[in-house]
Amino acid sequence: MRYKTTFRHFLALMLALIIGTNAHAFPENLKDLKQPVTNEALFNLINEVQKEDHISVSVEGKSVQGNPLYLLRFHHSPKPKWRLFFHAQQHGNETSGKDALTSLIKELAQDKSLLPEDVDLYIMPLVNPDGAATYSRRNAAGADLNRDHILLLQPETQALHRVGRRIMPHIVVDGHEFKRDTGDYLDKGWKEWPVIMMGTANSPLYSPALYDLGKQWIDKVGQNMQRLGHNYERYFLAYYPPHGELRYSTLEGDDGRNSFGLYYHSLSFIIESGVYRSIVEDPFFDIAQRTSAYLSIYKQFIQDATSRTEELEAIEASRSAPVIPYIATNFFWGSDGNFDHTSKAIDLDTGETVEFTAPNFMTKRVVKRYVKTPHAYAIRSSNVDLIKPLLERHEIEYEVVSKKRNMSVETCFLLALENDYDEVYERYEGRQIVRCKPAQMREFQEGSLVVRLNSLQAKEVIVTIEPQMLYGLFQYKAFAELADSSNEIGVYRVME
Ligand SMILES: [Zn+2]
Repeated sequence: MRYKTTFRHFLALMLALIIGTNAHAFPENLKDLKQPVTNEALFNLINEVQKEDHISVSVEGKSVQGNPLYLLRFHHSPKPKWRLFFHAQQHGNETSGKDALTSLIKELAQDKSLLPEDVDLYIMPLVNPDGAATYSRRNAAGADLNRDHILLLQPETQALHRVGRRIMPHIVVDGHEFKRDTGDYLDKGWKEWPVIMMGTANSPLYSPALYDLGKQWIDKVGQNMQRLGHNYERYFLAYYPPHGELRYSTLEGDDGRNSFGLYYHSLSFIIESGVYRSIVEDPFFDIAQRTSAYLSIYKQFIQDATSRTEELEAIEASRSAPVIPYIATNFFWGSDGNFDHTSKAIDLDTGETVEFTAPNFMTKRVVKRYVKTPHAYAIRSSNVDLIKPLLERHEIEYEVVSKKRNMSVETCFLLALENDYDEVYERYEGRQIVRCKPAQMREFQEGSLVVRLNSLQAKEVIVTIEPQMLYGLFQYKAFAELADSSNEIGVYRVME
């Protein structure tokens, strides 16, 4: 045994020496992809393609373990007008977005005519290289990067947002994977029907015009997926009846997840391709199919300019609009009474597509509570140590009060934190229950901060520090601890 093992190791070593890094190279034909692209193979490809005139490569930061966070830029006219930003694999075990982007990088390097003259394409193929290396969801610090968009504590999410702020993309696409064999379906002897799904940002804080244009893209991509024979649907979270409701996802702009473009007034999308995690031995057996579906969507975003004029106008209008007068602080999915949505699944025994009716397909965004938008937020001097670095991570501008100042402010109190999943509204844990008293004059000490709401960054400011957002800053322990003995949280709403 011992001899045999040693001999096998020797053979493996020889093979590795002979083949070198090519063992991990991307196959000539995408159909032959059998495994996710390794970090090493991706980094090698990036090094190779940066010699091309129309490609520039930058390192936008380092992961927790020191891996480079690469950004590739593709363009070949001096002033391209349309900026696209594709990023993937915030979750290290969700690979096919990155695999498709690897294929795209390779194709674009070989044939620059695939890129229209007016397109400026930015690709961050691998946001979480440490998680990718161990095929785990979280980064090396144990953080779920897609839950770090308010705090921006991780170098990976910091880099992502630095890039977002710098390039102000018109379209952002965030790549993920979902589980096709969830318990509720398996209990019925089914697996999920879609191979790939796409959702668009739809927080009530987001421009309604951008939401409508996002839905148009969901349909346009659907037509193309149908032509190509990929099972495609609008992204929904599926819980099978009786207790389960189906609802569209990416409403969660209130904690930044899945809604990157909200901050930058971009058309904002999430793609999710379906992976079997429990019913097959090799989760990568269909990786070529998933990657190819993904790749077709990326290409459509590059090449389909049919609604671009309208999109540019809506994006520019959103970027220059005055600050919204009211802030929706508590919202969820609801239904207007149309309970008979038909959905599809695949029977595990026969492989046939079955149709079923869900009792409550929640199709409407419902705002449960809103508040008047303040002119600014004031932060008492005792909270500055924690909140100033947070503002700086978001590059949010603030003024430091240089001598005592009186301002009319609403004082806010943290009444409770709810750390359970909300079964009623199908929403996640971490709700902060905050009430604010009507505005009164109050004195602010030297060293306090004032954050004004300018239109371009207003939504980022609101999502980050508005005390009454249901899923806001004070759901996080360090910030909840800022509340004093009377539960006053020390972030004030400046009303005039
Ligand atoms: Zn994910």
